[in-house]
Amino acid sequence: MPRAIIIDSLNNGTIQIIASILGNPIEYLKGVGPVRAELLQKELGIFTFGDLLEHFPYRHVDRTRINLIREIGPATEYVQLAGRVISVELLGDKRSRRLVAELRDSSGTIQLIWFQGINGVQKLVQVAGDYLVFGRVSHFQGSPQLTHPEIEVRDGNSGERPEFLEPVYPATEKLKVRGLGGRQLGKLTQTLLGMLKEKDLPENLPEMTMEYPDPETGRATRWLSRYEAYRQIHFPSQPALYRQALYRLKFEELFLAQMRLGLIKSRRHRSSKGVTFSQVGALFNQFYTQYLPFELTGAQKRVLKEIRRDTGSGRQMNRLLQGDVGSGKTIVALLAMLLALDNGFQACMMAPTEILAKQHYEGITALLKEMPVEVRLLTGSSKSKSRKEVLELAREGRLHILIGTHAVLEESVQFQRLGLAIVDEQHRFGVAQRARLWNKAEVVPHVLVMTATPIPRTLAMTAYGDLDYSVMDELPPGRQPISTVHRFEDRRPQVMDFIRHEIGKGRQVYIIFPLIEESESMDYENLKKGYENVKAWFPEPKYWISMVHGRQTNIVRDTNMRRFVLRETQIMVATTVIEVGVNVPNATVMVIESAEKFGLSQLHQLRGRVGRGAEKSYCILLTGPRLGKEARERMNILTETNDGFKIAEKDLEIRGPGDIEGTRQSGLLNFKLASIVEDRGWLVLARERVESILGADPELAEEGNRVLKDYLQSQRGKTGWSKIS
Ligand code: ADP
Ligand code: MG
Repeated sequence: MPRAIIIDSLNNGTIQIIASILGNPIEYLKGVGPVRAELLQKELGIFTFGDLLEHFPYRHVDRTRINLIREIGPATEYVQLAGRVISVELLGDKRSRRLVAELRDSSGTIQLIWFQGINGVQKLVQVAGDYLVFGRVSHFQGSPQLTHPEIEVRDGNSGERPEFLEPVYPATEKLKVRGLGGRQLGKLTQTLLGMLKEKDLPENLPEMTMEYPDPETGRATRWLSRYEAYRQIHFPSQPALYRQALYRLKFEELFLAQMRLGLIKSRRHRSSKGVTFSQVGALFNQFYTQYLPFELTGAQKRVLKEIRRDTGSGRQMNRLLQGDVGSGKTIVALLAMLLALDNGFQACMMAPTEILAKQHYEGITALLKEMPVEVRLLTGSSKSKSRKEVLELAREGRLHILIGTHAVLEESVQFQRLGLAIVDEQHRFGVAQRARLWNKAEVVPHVLVMTATPIPRTLAMTAYGDLDYSVMDELPPGRQPISTVHRFEDRRPQVMDFIRHEIGKGRQVYIIFPLIEESESMDYENLKKGYENVKAWFPEPKYWISMVHGRQTNIVRDTNMRRFVLRETQIMVATTVIEVGVNVPNATVMVIESAEKFGLSQLHQLRGRVGRGAEKSYCILLTGPRLGKEARERMNILTETNDGFKIAEKDLEIRGPGDIEGTRQSGLLNFKLASIVEDRGWLVLARERVESILGADPELAEEGNRVLKDYLQSQRGKTGWSKIS
């Protein structure tokens, strides 16, 4: 059998050749061959022996146990039956063609049905033959049946299997009908495990992390070896060993991910020279003493100190600033930028939307209007003339602060001396994208990433694990908590009365409509209808309404936005383009239409548009009359708490990490076994272990860490991690 050679080009053009049986193409495994190999690749992404080894069972069944047909109840999931086929019939015409067999055991009969692969099954399943059948129970018109069950001829031995627990693997219908169902996958895996030696799955955890506190007993326990863990997770010899295998492999997965991030961070801490902001100079001091519109909160001061310490250290700063909505991140960003300017550097700040970039631009130019600072705006819709001018100013170093959207990332934008890049309100910004900022200057600039809403600690650890981390957990003084209520649509008249009352006091109001896909014309119709409705509720000429959505031209959108900011309109009907960062402190009511269609973080972010001034603010969640369990839970959480950190944790629990905005594409959360929700404990342990290992040996140079280092080396290029380091 050929052994695969993986050629892995490391830095410096060195070529390393790693020969591993796990790299062998799956085709060469006994029982596979070219046809099945193609199926396995297409259906399950299994290309190599290693991929098959990591195709983990999602459950195990006790195959020594044979169920009786009579035992099948409404809650039965999987059954293994042993019986005799008493009839086989081909039913239906072309389209609905199906093969139905009836199986009888000592307790009753049940139907087995195939819609695909009928020819193959017909050959195997004969009337009066004895079979062993395994499958998931479904119910059709009140009777249980098995669709596309696994079936095999029952010879003398079957039914008394040596394994205590047999694995059940995820498989597709297509695989099943082509004879590669869960049971066959198990056989292939067994073949593979039979070929593997201890040395094919060498230990990769350093000795110092070989023990863990057992969650059940709390006792220090030694991990199963990797080799043993892979065997036990597929074919456990006892439930307790299965559990230990699962612990080990989950921990290993989380530990390795944390280690990779930790290495990026530690490498940067050691070697990436940053520009040094050695002094607090004239601009910072002048602004601080003369133009700062308020006293900073304790949290703001603390974060500024952290930023000053980082930027003065000679190393490059990479910091994540987490603050709840309205905690005052913008002013911290501005002060940090002034610090850069004072040290002879330029700064740039990126926002996710044009509205927000423009708002930052206007806010910051207003605050700096008495100061000798050149601030410019660059967005996708900047006219080519002004764009050219901005690019020139930036290149020549005459521009001090550049504010913009993603347009700032384009190649053509070059700075003379970029010292600080700030990414605002953005958790859609992956490790790789951040790296693009670094190419904007000869010496890597400092990077500050500010999140729009808090993200849970576990998520921050995985998605931003390479960053240092600041938290702003304090709101500016004088804020009154926002009152949030949930109302069904039939209460709309009262809601409108309330709005009228608030407007009467001089306040302003947002009414938000869901627009999930900006391009879907139906959603858009919803918004327009909504707008007409609002107009109908407020027919008097003294009421003015703005409307803002993603389909407007920039000019129209800006005009509408501006009129609201200038209080020329009292009501803002909008889609979620308004979601992030918009700051109109006089607005005190946020009405969210069809609130059930929004996620928790998004609702919290929308709510954060009010409660920004000294006046009492309100958020009204309007929903249809029938709510699912989850939607109801979301409404309850929002009415109960204003704490973005708590909401973020709940969001993660309810939706799981795959759905949390911005992390989906990051690829950092695609664990095979571990879940950052359920395995929080293992994640925290992994993080601690990584920190203590790298704390003592930041380059993994010590002998004790050799197994780990070798392993990481052997995995380079397989994971895509090398791209981002
Ligand atoms: P976010 O953290 O959501 O980006 P902003 O930076 O937009 O919050 O600040 C929200 C509001 O709070 C703004 O109107 C800002 O001027 C105000 N603000 C920020 N810091 C303070 C402070 N220390 N004292 C009073 N108001 C503040
Ligand atoms: Mg903000």
